[in-house]
Amino acid sequence: MLDQLRLLVKLQTLDKTLFDLSQDKETIPGRLADLNRAEETLKASLDQNQAQLDEVLASRKTLDEAGDSIRSRLRKTENRLMGAKTTREYQAANAEIDDNKDMLKDNEDQLLEVMERQEGLEKVVAELSEKFGQVSGASKEEREALEKRYHDTEAEINRLEAKRNQIVGQVEASLLREYDFIRQRREGIALSPVSQGTCSICHMGIPPQQYNELQRMDKIMHCPSCRRLIYWADAEEFADIK
Ligand SMILES: [Zn+2]
Repeated sequence: MLDQLRLLVKLQTLDKTLFDLSQDKETIPGRLADLNRAEETLKASLDQNQAQLDEVLASRKTLDEAGDSIRSRLRKTENRLMGAKTTREYQAANAEIDDNKDMLKDNEDQLLEVMERQEGLEKVVAELSEKFGQVSGASKEEREALEKRYHDTEAEINRLEAKRNQIVGQVEASLLREYDFIRQRREGIALSPVSQGTCSICHMGIPPQQYNELQRMDKIMHCPSCRRLIYWADAEEFADIK
């Protein structure tokens, strides 16, 4: 029985490590997804502002062209004014000049507004672009580190599982079934060391009569509180595998 208990102690140490490694491994895909999401959100915001800037640049071009054509019309009308032969021609040219001047004023007001928006958007795009560069650089590093950790953890799990299989082969089938049954329902811990009369996992005291029986180490016993398998951890027999 003592041999079986010693095997269970080794098995539990392995299983605790395996449990922790698996939990750590399971968090990695979620953390990778978070990294991607943060990067995508920033990229979407950058793209959106860049598209707005492109629109503003296009309207600035249209306004510039419209301004040029108003100015060219204005020059032609001014020439007509110079060469006006009748009062009527003079008045018509003068009225046209006034209209063109109004249009030019309107064009310039719009242009100013567009240039202001352009300036603001250029600033935002530059800031977002710099931030995106930083975030994607940092994400790349973190992603590589997480991927490496995932593969390293997986390799370590495989190595420990091979070791576990060797131990498992030596444990009595019914005891192993009970151990695995408890382990799956008790967050990876089926076997609890009892030290100074107390279960180390649930911290409840073992009644004196049962504690005496436990110290005889001749049968498999359970903690009366958490129902885990227990062994007397203060015994010399476990000193080398604690
Ligand atoms: Zn307990």
